[in-house]
Order: sequence, then structure tokens, then C-alpha cells
Amino acid sequence: MKRIAIVGGGIAGLTAAYELAKLVQAGNPVEAILFESTHHLGGIVETVREGGFILECGPDAWVTEKPWARTLVEELGLAEEIIPSNDATRKTYVLIDGHLQAMPDGMRMMVPTDLAALDTSNLFSPEAKQSFHNEITRAGELKSSAPQQDESVATFVHRHFGDEVLEKIGAPLLSGVFGGDVTKLSVRAVMAPFVAMEREHGSLIAAARARAATNSKPAAIFTTLRSGLGTLIDHLIAAIPTNWIRLGDTVQYLSREDDCWLIGTGKEIERFDAVMMAAPVDVARALIEPIAPQAADLMSMEASSAVVVGFGFANATSLSLPLGFGFLVPPGSNNLLLAATFMDQKFADRVPPGGRILRAFFGGAAANRLMRCGNDEIAAIARLELARILGPLPEPQVTVVRRWPNSLPQYAVGHLERMAELDERVSSLKGLWLLGNGYRGVGLPDLIRDARAAAQSAAT
Ligand SMILES: Cc1cc2nc3c(=O)[nH]c(=O)nc-3n(C[C@H](O)[C@H](O)[C@H](O)COP(=O)(O)OP(=O)(O)OC[C@H]3O[C@@H](n4cnc5c(N)ncnc54)[C@H](O)[C@@H]3O)c2cc1C
Repeated sequence: MKRIAIVGGGIAGLTAAYELAKLVQAGNPVEAILFESTHHLGGIVETVREGGFILECGPDAWVTEKPWARTLVEELGLAEEIIPSNDATRKTYVLIDGHLQAMPDGMRMMVPTDLAALDTSNLFSPEAKQSFHNEITRAGELKSSAPQQDESVATFVHRHFGDEVLEKIGAPLLSGVFGGDVTKLSVRAVMAPFVAMEREHGSLIAAARARAATNSKPAAIFTTLRSGLGTLIDHLIAAIPTNWIRLGDTVQYLSREDDCWLIGTGKEIERFDAVMMAAPVDVARALIEPIAPQAADLMSMEASSAVVVGFGFANATSLSLPLGFGFLVPPGSNNLLLAATFMDQKFADRVPPGGRILRAFFGGAAANRLMRCGNDEIAAIARLELARILGPLPEPQVTVVRRWPNSLPQYAVGHLERMAELDERVSSLKGLWLLGNGYRGVGLPDLIRDARAAAQSAAT
């Protein structure tokens, strides 16, 4: 019987445990123990259901293009629960000088596919619009000057579209997902498809248009579950043997002895044949450092924190919001918010009749400051910040505040090379797998894909 320890019960650790449970059913002689330091499973994935509202405390959806979350959800018997984002009314706004300006239709992140829509947009100055038009004519130059090495997102976006586009949409689009600073983020790690587009076409606009012309009608950009992503967690838990799960058990110590792994929790030390490390990267790094300091060095990365505040407003017909999914706040504007989502407009069935959900998202330095405040104070600040932009808000019926410290690891320039070296070092340790959002993607589909693949190789 092979004994496998899983450290951390977020989506990565739970998916690994689920896959191992399936392998056991298929006749593989495996036993797993999942150590989770808190008393609940799911990590950042959490849904609060109260008063008819469905409030996501962490992720609210996955990117439809990546198939791995959907496959898992279908396998768990949740196909009926799958819903798309309301893309017919998809619009994202950017806060400019205190006003919400809509991003033009047809944007693929910061790349427009519809230049006519771009030309009528109020978001960009005439100079920025011209820089988009020029990007197509600069295709040859952009292709031949594409660097051989990794570079920052800022340098990449700047080379194609200039300062204004970087500041107004490049920085806010990426900082909410990848924790932070576009001058440090690796373009190859966080915008790989765009790097490939540059390599092939030079111009990103030409590449995006070529792709749009060959694709049939695109599916909705985001997918989620009708009753919230917490349902995915509930179904994963139900598929894992209960005697595998140890709640309130923090792994404090990891070592190797005679080809075995020793895991210490403060209560006892146990032996395992393999370890699937699915704790956040800073925790994983500290645990691995005594055994493999060079691997730990490669795991050292900045991570930014997030604070999420969700408000459920009952009978909120007075609250009229612009059509669309929400807005982004460029860094440097006089506002603590990083973004806000109009949840009931983004997805169906989130609210009771007449209800509305607004979700405020704080990141970086603002999140670090807010993190030290009490929940009531955080909620009051979030309400004030939203009201400054959207106008007076009614009294919420439901308020949810969540702090997610160091939850968004920053993939800095050179990340892919460092991860390749880390993989080599980790595989030489025999029986160790690193899972979670510090390594090969932060989105749920990536984490699910990696956890399943790792469980299959750990079990054999
Ligand atoms: C606010 C926010 C919004 C997001 N939105 C989206 C989105 O819409 N779509 C998307 O695809 N992704 C989104 N992401 C990213 C995604 O949610 C995360 O990358 C993912 O949930 C991380 O899962 P994980 O299992 O790696 O880590 P976690 O969820 O952090 O789980 C790690 C677990 O390890 C436990 N742990 C820690 N230390 C120990 C220890 N020593 N011993 C035992 N257990 C330990 C923790 O308690 C935790 O439960 C979002 C992230 C944030 C922060």
C-alpha cells in the first residue's frame, strides 16, 4: 500500500485527493491523508449562500477556454449546474477621473479586434487610438524585434501600444489576477498566447483578428456553477474517503529518511511514500527549505494579498448600475479599490427577486492596509469607495468580508525558467509534487489539470 500525504485542502489538494480516491476505486493500492490547517476545506474557493444571495468569497468562475474545470465538474455529476457568464451584456468599465468609461467591444484583454468600436470609445485619447492603428502597420518591425528572452508585461504592452494603454487597461487587467506590478510580471508566464501571437504575426491586433475570423461564435468567456463554486468543493469532499481528511492539522515539518517522507504536525510524525505539497507557495517553501534549500530559493516569490467584500442588497431597484460585469481601477487613481463586479449582471440566479450583488476587490498595498482593520471597518470603507463611483447605495442585507493574505503569487520575469529548474530539483527528490498557484498558473482549470496529473504519477 502506497501512502501519500497531501498538504493543504484548497482546490489543488482536494482535486489531488479526489483523483487518488478514483485510482483506489480502480484497484490501485493507495492511501492518502490530506492535512488542512483550518477547519474547512476549499481554501480560497468559498461560497456564502444567505437570504437568497449567492456570494463568492474568492473565485467566481473559470475561464471557459480552459477545459479542465468543466471536465471535473461534469465527472462529479454537476453538468446541470454549469452556467455561462451573461456575455450578451458583457462590458467592463475603467475608472478614469472618477467616471466609468466602457472598454470598447471586441477587446481581447488589451488587444482590440474591432477598430471601429475602438474609434468611437471614450476610454482612449486620440493618440492612444492612433497607437492601436499604428500597431498593425508596425507588424514587420514588431516581429523582427521580438526579444528572445522573457520580459515584463509592461515592456511588452508598451512596445505594442504605448503608455496610456498600459496604464488604463494593461495594469488593472493583470494586477487583479496575477498579484501586482506589471513592471515585474513575466509576459511569458502570464500572457503566453500573446507572446505566441507576436512571434507569428508581429502585430497582436492582426493576430487577434485572424483568430476571430477563423473561430466560430466564441463560447461565453467565463463559466461557473449555478449554486456557486462551493458546490464543486462539496462534491469533491463527498468523493474523498472521510478517513483521509484531517482538519485543523497544520503540517509544521517535513523531512526525508530511508526513501520515506516524514510529516510532522505538532501532534505526531508520520511516514509517507510521497508528498503532494498543495499549501500556498510561501508555506511550501518554508517546509522544503531544510531538505532542499536550492529548490526553496527557486520558490521564493512575492505574493500580493486580496480583500474581497460582497454586498447583497434586497429590493434594490433603486440601485441602477451600468450594463456589464463591473469595473477596473487603474493603479495611481485616487481610490483604494482595484476592481468591482456587478455579480447579478455577470451571472444568472445570484440574487432573490429585486436583489443585487456588488463585490469590491482590493489588492496590493490597499489590501495589506485593510487587512489590519476589523470586518465592519473594511465593509464601511468598501461601501464608501463603491458609493463614490456608483452613487448612494442602499443598506445591504448581507455583507461578507474575506481576507486572503499573500494569495496571488507574482510570476516575475524569468518565472518559466525558474520553474523548469525547480521541476528538475524536485523530481530528483523522488516522491515530491508541488501543486497550487505558485508554479504553473493561478486559475482553477490550471490547478485542477496539474493536481490530477500529479496524483496519477504519485500513485504509480
Ligand atoms: C480574491 C481572489 C479571486 C480569484 N478569482 C479567481 C477566478 O475568478 N477564477 C479563477 O480561476 N481563479 C481565481 N483566483 C485564483 C484561485 O482562486 C486560486 O489560485 C486557487 O483557489 C488557489 O488554490 P490552492 O489550492 O492552490 O490554494 P489555497 O486555496 O490557498 O489552499 C491552500 C490550503 O492550504 C492550507 N494550508 C496552509 N498551510 C498549511 C499547512 N502548513 N498544513 C496544512 N494545510 C495548510 C490552507 O489553509 C488552505 O486551505 C482568485 C484568487 C483570489 C485570491
